Amino acid sequence: MQIGFDLGGTKMLAAVIDADGEIVARNKNQTEGTDNDTVYENIVETIDGALKKADISRKDIEVIGIAVPGPIDAENGVVLHTPNVALHNFPLAPRLSADIGCRVFLENDVNAGLWGEFIAGAGQGFRDVIGIFPGTGIGGGIVLDGRLYRGKGGRAGEIGHITVQSDGRRCGCGNHGCLETVASKTAIARDLALLAMNGQSPVLAEAGATDISLIKSGLIKKALDAGDPGVAEVVEQAARFLGIGMAAMVNIFDPELILLGGGLVEKLGARFAQPAETEMRVRAMPHLVEGVTVTEARLGTDAVIVGAADLARQR
Ligand SMILES: [Zn+2]
Repeated sequence: MQIGFDLGGTKMLAAVIDADGEIVARNKNQTEGTDNDTVYENIVETIDGALKKADISRKDIEVIGIAVPGPIDAENGVVLHTPNVALHNFPLAPRLSADIGCRVFLENDVNAGLWGEFIAGAGQGFRDVIGIFPGTGIGGGIVLDGRLYRGKGGRAGEIGHITVQSDGRRCGCGNHGCLETVASKTAIARDLALLAMNGQSPVLAEAGATDISLIKSGLIKKALDAGDPGVAEVVEQAARFLGIGMAAMVNIFDPELILLGGGLVEKLGARFAQPAETEMRVRAMPHLVEGVTVTEARLGTDAVIVGAADLARQR
């Protein structure tokens, strides 16, 4: 038995996975705790809860894979810093390994999600896959020749920080005009809040969406469903920028598949993915883009736990 663990900013999820890769039990908790020790206790309780639901004990677990939403030292199993979870320079893998009594590995959550889709979801049957996940930022992952490509420091795949506007807005990374400044959910929410403030979107104005933090993917979908033309324009423009980033990946990696995932893609579907794909096909080199498939992720959050467990099992 393996455990796949998704350490999210608001929720954490532990799942018990059998030798065939099937999820046999899952246990979800709010992510609580304000320091290393309390978050750690929360993690252990969540794992024990999953074991109880599967009616097994700690000694039945061979390996645990934990997907972390921030920079990690994968070699030593240390969470360096997570903006949304109160863990800082914390040796999560060795601590858990000692307490639970099995091997424990950390993985970047985007890599885990892409890997889960690759082995059990929309990426099955392909060998060269680029995963792009627009959300607060834009996460990316790369599978080459059937293997996750990590790069020299384990940080490969920062597709969100490709420059698409030479003098664009400042990005969280310090650069200007990165893809995620124009194509992430945050970028869309910023433009939509402006529409709401200017009275150009009745649906958003009614929802009080002048506050960027109130504009979630679900509200964007609602405004699109209501036929709000300003909203459609903003979403399409962001999607076209995403297509520019996709074209860059096609030209560099010659992939078989571009897999789009994350909350925005899940909620908006083709209304976001289609204009992105169209732009990609216009911009990428014709002989490279010809055989590229673009598809949407299909496992949702299960991709992360399945992927984290399998990557841990491999190591
Ligand atoms: Zn950036």
